[in-house]
Amino acid sequence: EPLTAPGPLPVGELLELDRAHVWHPYSPMPGRADPLVVASASGVRLRLAEPAHGRHELIDGMSSWWSAIHGYNHPVLNEAARTQLERMSHVMFGGLTHEPAVRLAARLVEITPEPLRHVFLSDSGSVAVEVAVKMCLQHWRSLGRPEKRRLLTWRGGYHGDTWQPMAVCDPDGGMHRLWSGVLPRQLFADAPPAGFDEAYAKTLRAAVARHAHELAAVIVEPVVQGAGGMRFHSPGYLRVLREACDEHGVLLVFDEIATGFGRTGTLFAAGQAGVSPDVMCLGKALTGGYLSMAATLCTSAVADGISRGEVPVLAHGPTFMANPLAAAVAGASIDLLLGQDWAQEVKRLESGLGEGLAEAGKLPGVREVRVLGGIGVVQLDHEVDLAAATGAAVRAGVWLRPFRDLIYVMPPYVMDDADLGRVCEAVCASAAAG
Ligand code: PLP
Repeated sequence: EPLTAPGPLPVGELLELDRAHVWHPYSPMPGRADPLVVASASGVRLRLAEPAHGRHELIDGMSSWWSAIHGYNHPVLNEAARTQLERMSHVMFGGLTHEPAVRLAARLVEITPEPLRHVFLSDSGSVAVEVAVKMCLQHWRSLGRPEKRRLLTWRGGYHGDTWQPMAVCDPDGGMHRLWSGVLPRQLFADAPPAGFDEAYAKTLRAAVARHAHELAAVIVEPVVQGAGGMRFHSPGYLRVLREACDEHGVLLVFDEIATGFGRTGTLFAAGQAGVSPDVMCLGKALTGGYLSMAATLCTSAVADGISRGEVPVLAHGPTFMANPLAAAVAGASIDLLLGQDWAQEVKRLESGLGEGLAEAGKLPGVREVRVLGGIGVVQLDHEVDLAAATGAAVRAGVWLRPFRDLIYVMPPYVMDDADLGRVCEAVCASAAAG
C-alpha cells in the first residue's frame, strides 16, 4: 500500500503525513506544530493550500530566511533555471567543469573584495563554513604549523548546524549548547557592542594576540550577528580584527552568508569597514533563494599555503558541488541584482522599516527596535509566545517567524511601500500579541 494515493493530497492528509514522517527545523518527531501548507509563491506572496486565520495569501516578511531577495517565481530566474534544465541539471564536478560554474566563480571574484580569487562552490551555508574552516586549518598544517588549529569567534554568533559551524555558534544562549563538551573547543570573545567602544576593541586585539600561537583563524559575521540574536555592531571592529590578524599571523574569515548581496546596505557587509577577509562564505541570497548553493572564497595566499603541503589538495568534494542549475540561477540572480539600483531599494526598505516599526517601540514589553538596511528587528523583554506572535501576523496577512525574544523582518527587495507598510503593521501586532 503506498502511503499516498496519486493526485493532489488533501491538506488534512498532508499534515498527518507531515507530522508522522517529516522533520522540520528544530522540531521534535513526531511533529507537534501545525505548519501552514504553501501551495505556491509569487512576487512577495505565499499562497496557502488552505486559509489560515481567514488568509489565503501571506506577504512574506522573511525572504525565506534571507534568501529570496527578488521575491518568488521571478521571470528572469525562472528562465535561467529552465534554460539550464534543458541543457544539464547536474553533472559531477570531479574531472569535469561547465560554463555556469566557471562564469559564477569569475563573477564572484569580480564583485567581492580584491584579494579573494578562488571559489569553492558547495551546497549549503553550513558546508561553506566547514570548507572555510578546513581551508584555514589545512593552510597552517601545510606550512608546518599544525598547532594553529583553533578558532576565535564572538559570542552570540551563528554559523550553521554542521559540526565545525556549531562549534563557533553561541555556546551559552545558543541552540547548540546540547553539544557543549563534545564539539571542538573554540575560543570566544564577548559579542561586540553596537557602537565603537575602544575598551572592547582593546580586548579583541588582546585576545587575538594572546591566542595567536594556537589560532588558525578568527571567524565572524560582519556587522550583523543574525540567527544568534539579530544584533548589529560597528564595522570598526572588523578593522580591529583585520589589523590584529595581520599583526599576529591569524587568518580572518567573514561569514557573509546572511549579510551578502546587499542586505545591510552595502553589497557585502565587509564593505562598510573597507576591509577584506582571507576567506569569505556566501550562501542564502546567492541564488536569489531558488536553489541550494553556497560559496567559500579565499585569497591566493591561503590557497598557496594549502598547495605547499604534504597533501597539496583541498580534500573536499560534495556530490552536488557546483550544481549547474544552481550556478546558472545564481549568475542570473547576481546580474538581476546589479543591473538595478539595488542600493536605493535597500535604502527604501530601511526608511520604510524605520518609520513603520517606530510604533512598535512604544508598546509595553518591547525592549528595542533596530533597523539596518533591509533588516528590521523588534526585541521584546521576554521570550516570544511563538503561536500568539505568528498568529497575530497571519491574521494581519503577513508571514513572520519570530524566535527567542525577537520579532524580525527581512523583506524581499522588490516589496513595494504598501506591502512594506502592512508588514510593519503585522510586526507591531505580533509584538503586541507575543
Ligand atoms: N552562516 C550564517 C551567518 C547563517 O545565517 C547561516 C544560516 O542561517 C549559516 C551560516 C548556515 O547556512 P545554511 O542554513 O544554508 O546551512
